[in-house]
Amino acid sequence: MNDLGFTDEEIERYARHITLPQVGGIGQRKLINSKVLVIGAGGLGSPLLLYLAAAGVGTIGIIDDDKVELSNLQRQIIHTNDNIKIHKTDSAKKAILDINPNVNVITYKERFSFKNAEDIVSKFDIVADGSDNFGTRFLANDVCYLKNKTLVSAAILRFEGQISSYSAHKGSNCCYRCLWPEPPPKGLIASCGEAGVFGALAGSIGSIQAIEVLKEILGIGHSLNNYLVIFDTLSSEMRKVKINKDNNCKLCGSKPTITSITNHKDYR
Ligand SMILES: [Zn+2]
Repeated sequence: MNDLGFTDEEIERYARHITLPQVGGIGQRKLINSKVLVIGAGGLGSPLLLYLAAAGVGTIGIIDDDKVELSNLQRQIIHTNDNIKIHKTDSAKKAILDINPNVNVITYKERFSFKNAEDIVSKFDIVADGSDNFGTRFLANDVCYLKNKTLVSAAILRFEGQISSYSAHKGSNCCYRCLWPEPPPKGLIASCGEAGVFGALAGSIGSIQAIEVLKEILGIGHSLNNYLVIFDTLSSEMRKVKINKDNNCKLCGSKPTITSITNHKDYR
């Protein structure tokens, strides 16, 4: 094990991972060497960041321009009462380092936008989008495709959550735009602020998002490429739906019209 360069502390910390044949010392080393960007330190970002940190992901980037508010604490379990009015990135960083001081946490106290997206995404291996709006989801999809990064994208509203992985830069996989060509008209779909969200749902979907990110890094199991998982908390039903590549997709189709990140209307 020591030829993989682990310290005694790391061998003890990650013992339950190293014992799993699908992870082992080699897999744990992959996690420690990996760099994951998490967009949004909110409901999904909370469990996602905590589990990635606990799992030993070596470098974690967090981008969020919000400060912690009292109404966040019903579901955003990475933040605490003491951190109200503190930047979410700082609050999340503290919680991460409390769990695992070995993690290199890089914080961006800004909104993920067409101006910074390419620069920031380029610094990471994989991106997990836990944002709460369509503009960010489309931007994350487009920039990940153009920069050849895998995207694990999730969303929650009321009592239902959805999650999928996108690696359209590899082979014939679909992207988010193959499923949703463009954002719905403003106001058609309510936000969590308007419609509400069941707090513990953020915990379950954010945790599944962490699982999928870790599986992508380790290269184990079946990825959620070309599948959408939908979890309905009220019926306790989880469905896995096949999704197909759209050859006319504006981004990853045979004649793409989106070939660079600009101030596109879909990102607003
Ligand atoms: Zn596509």
